[in-house]
Amino acid sequence: MKNLTILGSTGSIGVSTLEIVAAHPDRFRVVAMTAGKNLELFVRQIRQFAPRIAVVASSGDVPLLKEMCGGLDVEILGGMEGLIAAATDDEVEMVVAAIVGAAGLLPTAAAIRAGKDIALANKETLVTAGHLFMDMVREHGVRLFPVDSEHSAVFQSIEGHRSADIEKIILTASGGPFLNTPAEQFTRVTVRDALNHPNWNMGRKITIDSATMMNKGLEVIEARWLFDVPVEKIDVNIHPQSIIHSMVEYIDGCVIAQLGTPDMKAPIAYALSYPERISTGVKPLDLTQFSGLTFLRPDMDKFRCLGLAYRAINSGESMPAVMNAANEIAVEAFLEGRIGFVQIADTIETAMNAHTPRDLRSIEEVLEADLWGRETAREICRELVR
Ligand code: NAD
Ligand code: MG
Repeated sequence: MKNLTILGSTGSIGVSTLEIVAAHPDRFRVVAMTAGKNLELFVRQIRQFAPRIAVVASSGDVPLLKEMCGGLDVEILGGMEGLIAAATDDEVEMVVAAIVGAAGLLPTAAAIRAGKDIALANKETLVTAGHLFMDMVREHGVRLFPVDSEHSAVFQSIEGHRSADIEKIILTASGGPFLNTPAEQFTRVTVRDALNHPNWNMGRKITIDSATMMNKGLEVIEARWLFDVPVEKIDVNIHPQSIIHSMVEYIDGCVIAQLGTPDMKAPIAYALSYPERISTGVKPLDLTQFSGLTFLRPDMDKFRCLGLAYRAINSGESMPAVMNAANEIAVEAFLEGRIGFVQIADTIETAMNAHTPRDLRSIEEVLEADLWGRETAREICRELVR
């Protein structure tokens, strides 16, 4: 029996994780779970999975959650303190990090320091503080399993191979809803258009990141840290069918890829049950149903966010944290209808141009860079609205 904490249980990844848990009650038990705002769903989850601890992100919501859970035998906590308590509880072996954005940094760091294995969905932690996280993982002897489908594919394609033999990592990208939309039409893109992803059903922030292709930029940085490979060795191929989830090319010219129906339950289950494989209910892949699998190079002039992410990781130090923070603010502003789609990249680029990168030696310094990026991006968005 593996005891789990699920950080972000009400999100898209959290819900899929609970589906896996529900299908394997003999293997997994939820000790703690945490949520942001969707308390109705959270209470239903608490009833179904009976965790010992339930945490709501805002401590102001604790009384309401207590009232909603009246009669249930669960300890209810709130705020960052509560998130950290859930992530570090003695009974827990593995923490599923499925909070979105830099908000996941502190609880995930606390979990690693407490010796918990991590199933990592929250890519923003590695984007902002990859070097610190990977050092902590080594220092505390924990295992970090990727949940992101591309990184799970690379992880599966690397098993049994020497990292010295890797020539290249090739991350695949669907290209999102605007793959075939000319860049000139981007000024007319609505929130609804951008939320309409062709292959994956995900949370709102990552869905917009997929439309701008910032998601792939974040994933390049995530791969750089997870697999300790220089960024020059990480390529992106657009693959609109999302059947090959990523590939690893070796120095002998052999390429190993992982394929499957696009469904996050597969990489989640592998992170939870590694090295075993367990049933997931994912639709079996029938390649005869496809008239062809296609691949093309991404257009960096059109998808400016992808280029900005390469620029950020090449510049290094605090630049990726600032880029990530500016992206979070710009995506929020776009989703709230305050700025246009094109202005997401404008905001990030302007914030990056204004930033002088500096070395980040602690999570506190990462959070300072994150805060600077947020405040700068907020100001830029206000200017854009004027
Ligand atoms: P989501 O928005 O659906 O869910 C986010 C979860 O985090 C929710 O439970 C929410 O309540 C909680 N949360 C949000 N803000 C919080 C805060 N400030 N403090 C505490 N909790 C907070 O997001 P998602 O799509 O499930 O994505 C989660 C993470 O997984 C992201 O980092 C995303 O990039 C990554 N990811 C998601 C997918 C996917 O298919 N959805 C795929 C790969 C990677
Ligand atoms: Mg992904």
